[in-house]
Order: sequence, then structure tokens, then C-alpha cells
Amino acid sequence: MLECKVYAANDLRVIEVEMPQPGPGEVLVRLGAAGICGSDMHYYFHGGVGSFRIREPLTPGHEASGLVAAVGQGVTRVKPGQPIAINPSRACGQCAGCREGRENLCTNMRFLGSASVFPHMQGMFREYFTMPEQQCVPVDSDVSMQEIAMSEPLSVALHSVHRAGSLLGKTVLITGSGTIGCMMVIAARLGGARRIAVTDVVDHPLDVARQVGADQTVRIDQLAEGTRLSDVIGEPDVGFEVSGAPQALITSLETVRRGGTVVQVGTLPAEGMHLPANLVMQREIDLRGSFRFGNVFEHAVDAIATRRVDVRPVISASQPLTQAEAAIKLARDKTRSMKIHLVPA
Ligand SMILES: [Zn+2]
Ligand SMILES: [Zn+2]
Repeated sequence: MLECKVYAANDLRVIEVEMPQPGPGEVLVRLGAAGICGSDMHYYFHGGVGSFRIREPLTPGHEASGLVAAVGQGVTRVKPGQPIAINPSRACGQCAGCREGRENLCTNMRFLGSASVFPHMQGMFREYFTMPEQQCVPVDSDVSMQEIAMSEPLSVALHSVHRAGSLLGKTVLITGSGTIGCMMVIAARLGGARRIAVTDVVDHPLDVARQVGADQTVRIDQLAEGTRLSDVIGEPDVGFEVSGAPQALITSLETVRRGGTVVQVGTLPAEGMHLPANLVMQREIDLRGSFRFGNVFEHAVDAIATRRVDVRPVISASQPLTQAEAAIKLARDKTRSMKIHLVPA
């Protein structure tokens, strides 16, 4: 079977490896589709994400669906042939964060396809992999494998909505219209937002944002001289900063209403940024962080499996694992691509 490994920046190899065998409590999964995420691109182009550096060959991939190929001893949740979504979070269940019900803050988190721990947690850019039963969420629906694989990015967005608090009847600004930005549109709508505005610096992702329900989209780089974003969209109650651009966080802090909330979802540059932090004080803004996701994964799977939300506009193309390098390059081209999936060769 085939497996993708990133050895270092710009060094990705698709290699032949032995088929894994499921141990007790484990499921052998045949890959359905695996989304290429920003962090996977960072591992390939830069050999790391923020402070996480590749120290041994890493198989990326944390957004996947599959079919159960075989089950190990004692597995009861799924049977061979069952379509599943894979929850990439493996929290310890013991630490203070876990016991508080905030598993995403687990100090012993093992997140798939990540170099945050050593040995690295190998991800799902491979034809077959084994997974603990509890990370396999059954899907009883005939939605596509690509749609099921969007459960992970939708979970990120649903968690951010939880961090913001109730959105019922609120107005929302989302800065950044990539996959997570579009998932934010969907999640904010599910959360009851009344009006959603989205900004970006490229047209294509804003077109997709409108397809998934954004009320207003703005090319933030094309605002007329002297025009503020609030002149165009008003002052929203809540801002979600998804782009990871320092200026977008500042724009969000300047644009939400006095007493509003800003949630930082995107990854800002590792070296930090200049922040006019008095905006937070003078305008009494609640600035909150949102990291990966807590206990929302099964909600995301259910919303997609029932098509209560339609993620199809965000799915751009699928490529075989053997073309992983080309697929990652395609995924980086924001003028054409939203979510690109890898599928078995
Ligand atoms: Zn991701
Ligand atoms: Zn823990």
C-alpha cells in the first residue's frame, strides 16, 4: 500500500509500505478522502508549522473519511464496510484541561498528522491506517467521502462559534474566506447569526462564501482610500479572524461594535505582531482564542451526513495519493482552489 511522507521542506515521497494490522480496540481503515489543510502545506513547503518542526519523516493529513476494512478484537462501534469520519484528536482524558471538558487544551494531546510531539503523530495521507475505535465515527448516509472528510474543518468552525457565545440574531464579520472561513459562515448560520459579512483579498473564495450563505463579501484590499470596513458593513457584534493576517486581526478589533467580541481562529505569524491593544481596552472588546475543537466533532459529522449543511461548494477537486505533491501545490493556489482531497490511487 502507498503512503505519503514529508522528509523535509519540498521533499515529499510516496512510498510502498506494509499493510498495518488492527490491534485490540483498533479499526483498519481504507482511506476515503483526506483534505489538504494549511498545516499540511506548511509541512511540505516549510518543513514545519509555527514551532512544530519535522524531526522524522511525517505523514500529514488530519481531515479524513474512510471505509472500515477490518476490525480488531473487542471493536463494537463499527463493522467492515461501514463509512466513517475520523476524529483526529486523541486527548488523554486525565489532565486538568480534559477533566474540565476542554479536551482541545489537553496537555498530552496526540493530534493526527502533527509534529507537535515526538515521535510524530502520523497522519492519514495513506491508503490504509489503523485507528482506535473511539476515533471512528460511523456515518449512515450516502454523502460523498469528500463531504464526510469536511467534518474536521467544520468542527473547527463550530468550536469557534461556541467560543463566541450565542450568535442568535447577531451580526458577524469573518476575516478570511478560505476553507475555514467558509466553514465559519456555515457554522455561524447554524448558530443563528442574522447577518454575515466576509472579507478576503481574492475573488474566488469570496464567491464560495456567498454560495455557502454569506450575506455580504468585501475585497478588503480594494476599499477606497479613507473608507473603513465599518462604513461598508456596519459594526458587527462578533468578529472571527480566520486569515492569520496581522492586519485582519486589527481590522476586526477596529470594526466590531463597542463591547463586541473577537475570536482569533487563524494562526498568526510565529514571530508575533504589533497589536494596538488599547482597542481591546477602550472599546471593551472580548478577545478570545479558539484552538482546534472540543466536543463538537459528532455534531459536525451529523450536520454533514444529514445535509443540514451543504459543504459541497467548498470542495474543489480530488487527486490520487500518487499525485500528492501536485495536489498540495494546487491547494495553495487560492485563485482556483478551496478544499483539495487526496484519494487512494
Ligand atoms: Zn485542518
Ligand atoms: Zn488531557
